[in-house]
Amino acid sequence: MSHLPVVATKMSGEMDKPLISRRLVDSDGSLAETPSKAPKVGILGSGDFARSLATRLIGSGFSVVVGSRNPKRTAGLFPSSAQVTLREEAVSSPEVIFVAVFREHYSSLCDLSDQLAGKILVDVSNPTEQEHLQHRESNAEYLASLFPTCTVVKAFNVISAWTLQAGPRDGNRQVPICSDQPEAKRTVSEMVHAMGFMPVDMGSLASAREVEAMPLRLLPGWKVPTLLALGLFVCFYAYNFIRDVLHPYVQHGKNKFYKLPVSVVNTTLPCVAYVLLSLVYLPGVLAATLQLRRGTKYRRFPDWLDHWLQHRKQIGLLSFYCAALHAVYSFCLPLLRSSRYELVNLAVDQVANKSHLWVEEEVWRMEIYVSLGVLALGTLSLLAVTSLPSIANSLNWREFSFVQSTLGFVALVLTTLHTLTYGWTRAFEENRYKFYLPPTFTLTLLVPCVVILAKALFLLPCFSRRLAKIRRGWEKDGAIKFVLPTDHILVEKTSHV
Ligand code: NAP
Repeated sequence: MSHLPVVATKMSGEMDKPLISRRLVDSDGSLAETPSKAPKVGILGSGDFARSLATRLIGSGFSVVVGSRNPKRTAGLFPSSAQVTLREEAVSSPEVIFVAVFREHYSSLCDLSDQLAGKILVDVSNPTEQEHLQHRESNAEYLASLFPTCTVVKAFNVISAWTLQAGPRDGNRQVPICSDQPEAKRTVSEMVHAMGFMPVDMGSLASAREVEAMPLRLLPGWKVPTLLALGLFVCFYAYNFIRDVLHPYVQHGKNKFYKLPVSVVNTTLPCVAYVLLSLVYLPGVLAATLQLRRGTKYRRFPDWLDHWLQHRKQIGLLSFYCAALHAVYSFCLPLLRSSRYELVNLAVDQVANKSHLWVEEEVWRMEIYVSLGVLALGTLSLLAVTSLPSIANSLNWREFSFVQSTLGFVALVLTTLHTLTYGWTRAFEENRYKFYLPPTFTLTLLVPCVVILAKALFLLPCFSRRLAKIRRGWEKDGAIKFVLPTDHILVEKTSHV
């Protein structure tokens, strides 16, 4: 963490303030002497992580002894109540010792093997991506192989030095822990609790590789949806560029390249938002169709459909993001020079021709179009907010399903009406087919219309009753006789795909 050395130089200020326990504060604000009965914890290393860890441990009521190769140089960077000494001395009394040095320096600790025998070593290290691929055994397993007489526990690697400093409120609260010794795992779990974090038991030390891979992940659930959104954006942008910029240039010699940064982007964003929203509901339709065809819910969906179903939240949020950007771009349109010039030119033309411009149909179309757009964006915002874990967790299954399924479908219908009022009769006008390419909105309507039609079909009693039976466990080829409950609330409560 690049900002930590700066923080470290201000140890008497911010870092000296206790993070949890107020009783340890001196009148001058620095961390006071820890009570003599406080459990003693050792830390090997005096870097960024060791400093944040020591501060938090002291704030949580532990007594800390830090082992450094050069205690004189580093002592000033730690809270005054932490004992900073040579490594040999630091490991002599504590039962639990945090190893806050990098893997390549583990071997430098081998001189301490005798003093460390029988103690718990907490491995907090994180490999780089390259190291993770290079070494087959995890850092924790490597440490355990160097110190066979110690018990190694993997913990705290997912917590950054910054989170340790700022406290669990500002970061991830969960601390995955693994070790081959349940007793050692329990001791470290209690420490994690005392420090305000939440221990998560990950099993034996063999899981350490998985635990060490956790901080290396970069938004794993977002990769495919983001690529999908980018792919759609590039395709629609190219399509709109050909129609709105290239066509006037080639056919009429008009230079409309100024439209590239705003206008073309603003016609592309709603297309992406709309198609993405329909792609949130399409896998549900496909899953229902499969279940109807197979006559059972007990057969696995194909992998691609399974993955698609699992990414619906991310696809929906990206749809909301594009819709919100479209709204902001649209608000900015009147600010553009091009739009002001066009308006003034139109006014001058009117004065010259003494015409009165008021097309009643256009006025109504625009009013309805804008209103439907605002309603659709409002509904999408509700969906986005309820997908936040803190809010989703406060809803029961029925409430969540109502918002995500019913309101989501309402948003799709509103967006379809918004698109239709935008298109109006343009799909039937010959001059709208530039280079024989249909207007962009007609393309975007394809998937959403399929989804809406399929959803409407599933409402027909012949399909809805069969689907409801299947989702409550009925099987076409099953020997068990099945009667659907008459209570429609019970039927509705059945989980849907
Ligand atoms: P750091 O600031 O570079 O500190 C590492 C410490 O290792 C040094 O202070 C030094 O302590 C010791 N050291 C350095 N060179 C050494 C050598 N040649 N031989 C023996 N000891 C040597 O690193 P850090 O950020 O604190 O990270 C320490 C460990 O915590 C790493 O394994 C890292 O993956 C893990 N971690 C860090 C963070 C974070 O946010 N920084 C988060 C999670 C996990 P002395 O000079 O006092 O001996």
